[in-house]
Amino acid sequence: MRGRFAPTPSGLMHIGNARTALLAWLQARSAGGAFVMRMEDVDLTRSRTELAEQALADLRWLGLDWDEGPDVGGAYAPYTQSERIGMYEEALAALERSGRLYECYCSRAELAAVASAPHGLGSEGPAYPGTCRLLTPQQRAERRSLKMPSLRFAVDAAESVRFDDLAAGPQTFPPAAGGDFVVKRADGMISYQLAVVVDDAAMGITDVLRGEDLLDSTPRQLQLYEALGWAPPRFAHVPLMYGSDGKRLAKRHGALSLAALRGSGIAPEKVVGWLAAVSGLIGKFEPVRASELAGHFRIDRVTKEDILITDDLLNRLVE
Ligand code: GLU
Repeated sequence: MRGRFAPTPSGLMHIGNARTALLAWLQARSAGGAFVMRMEDVDLTRSRTELAEQALADLRWLGLDWDEGPDVGGAYAPYTQSERIGMYEEALAALERSGRLYECYCSRAELAAVASAPHGLGSEGPAYPGTCRLLTPQQRAERRSLKMPSLRFAVDAAESVRFDDLAAGPQTFPPAAGGDFVVKRADGMISYQLAVVVDDAAMGITDVLRGEDLLDSTPRQLQLYEALGWAPPRFAHVPLMYGSDGKRLAKRHGALSLAALRGSGIAPEKVVGWLAAVSGLIGKFEPVRASELAGHFRIDRVTKEDILITDDLLNRLVE
């Protein structure tokens, strides 16, 4: 069993990221498995080295550890996506050989929706209609002389995608949900969808536990696994945490960053205990070390509802 946590270093780790990391770590540790840390900085315009370092320091402060990662190395190094571009290019070449890629010349505005941020199909708007799939060789040559194309993966439009999610339950996505998707942008950036599949496969990851915002990215990733001839991991998508304003935790909830909580002098055991309690893993709010939880973890015990951090709930953490 090999689990992983794969943060994007574009902001400070917040308490919601910490919860996902803790659950992924517990899933691996409770099964006696290995835990891998991977830095997903494939979008260099959004990622910052200081934030990558801060994320690792914050997660260690929380009591998590990893057998392989950017700072400790390991058999599948490097563990930083910006150093793995060669592997993504090899996968693109394999997809190209099997006829699954095509050049797309749609405008930047049309493509804004498929930007790097892995926020799932839901945030993308209407499915890509396949405009450039039907270009004739001559039209393609004309457009190529004017601008650089992005590369799209042609999804299988005949089959629904089904999988059993260990946390979210059985899933069925309609054929070609979201349409053909970008695997390499016109500016050369590799997409999250491709990088994450190449990395999880190459690193022998057997279990992916991550936030529910990525549930609807999974059918795309499963299609990539299939096209590349690789066995997919098991997936568990856990509910997200929301601020008292009802919005998904983000930079604006600065007080809920691990760095701020740490800075306020709160003990890491208190944070872990609070996370375990709101996740349904322990019965009351009490300080606990991550290592003490590993023996008791069961994925089916983790609360299935989104967690709204009301002021009351927050007081339990910071009082
Ligand atoms: N890097 C992604 C994020 O920070 C997570 C990717 C994944 O777990 O598949 O949202």
